[in-house]
Amino acid sequence: MEEQLNFAPLGYLVMDQELKIIEMNRTMIEMSHLVSVPTHMHDLLTIASRVYFQTYFIPAIITHGAVSEMFLRLKGPDGPIPVLMNTRKRNELFECAFMQVPIRNEYENELLNAKREAEQISQATAEANSELQLLLDEVKYKQEELNIMNGRLREMTNTDVLTGLKNRRYLEEFLPGLIAESNLTLLIIDIDFFKRINDTFGHHAGDVVLKELAEVLTRTIGDDGFAARLGGEEFVAVLPIVELSEAQKIAEKIRFNVEMHDWPYQPITVSIGVASNSDCNSFPDLLNEADTALYNSKNAGRNRVSVSS
Ligand code: GH3
Ligand code: MG
Ligand code: MG
Repeated sequence: MEEQLNFAPLGYLVMDQELKIIEMNRTMIEMSHLVSVPTHMHDLLTIASRVYFQTYFIPAIITHGAVSEMFLRLKGPDGPIPVLMNTRKRNELFECAFMQVPIRNEYENELLNAKREAEQISQATAEANSELQLLLDEVKYKQEELNIMNGRLREMTNTDVLTGLKNRRYLEEFLPGLIAESNLTLLIIDIDFFKRINDTFGHHAGDVVLKELAEVLTRTIGDDGFAARLGGEEFVAVLPIVELSEAQKIAEKIRFNVEMHDWPYQPITVSIGVASNSDCNSFPDLLNEADTALYNSKNAGRNRVSVSS
């Protein structure tokens, strides 16, 4: 082999059609870290490259008489050596030139690492997302629980414990809105001489009477409105009725039903004051008006209905 070709800056070898190596330049021997020239082209290649070579080289060289830039890996003592191979068929022999391409190898490794990292990140993201979804589901569940608890709490704070009727707090919260929107009639219903029941039969008896009165009121008012406990032995009926005369009839029915009810300790009567919001513009005003009417009922002898004038 010519001196110049022997030390050319590229690996050079010649092989026959059975891929047996005939000669090889010095650069090729050094590139492959060989001590002597191997007998077969396969001896130069890594297993993966050998499979690739066998699959593509022979068909390509038979069809085109040349192969360009075939990427192969040579076996090396410190691992595969990436090379590009150009081959040309001449005089029934294959002449091959090898160019080392370590940069491409590094680049491929970098790509591989980047791909691996991307996969890891994607997996971590998927895990974080499913954890987040679990947390969101939990927050939603807790929120719903909280809403239910808040609803119950609101119901409790708006309800009179003894009678189960709406309480004064409820009236103060909701009646101003109702009064602003529409006309309604308010009845204050006060038990006559209630103190005597407590004094004669005890506080528990008083409680029983209060609970029973709540039932009589609810039954009598029915769909005409609702009853609430203002406090003590005072109740109200809120009626979405504009006509005072009609409200007065309901008040009279309440008074009558209470008087006729079969009470456990002794007969009970109530005095009632009726007022409508057509000439009052606030809940306290309406309450005052009804209270004045109630005062009139008491003064006139109790067990009667008075309408605010
Ligand atoms: P009047 O006919 O003038 O209304 O007389 P009254 O005795 O009904 O009125 P008064 O205001 O003098 O007495 C009301 C009593 O109601 C006094 C109080 O001890 C009692 N009372 C208030 N709240 C309760 C309660 O929750 N349970 C019981 N048992 N008694 C109560
Ligand atoms: Mg009373
Ligand atoms: Mg009273």
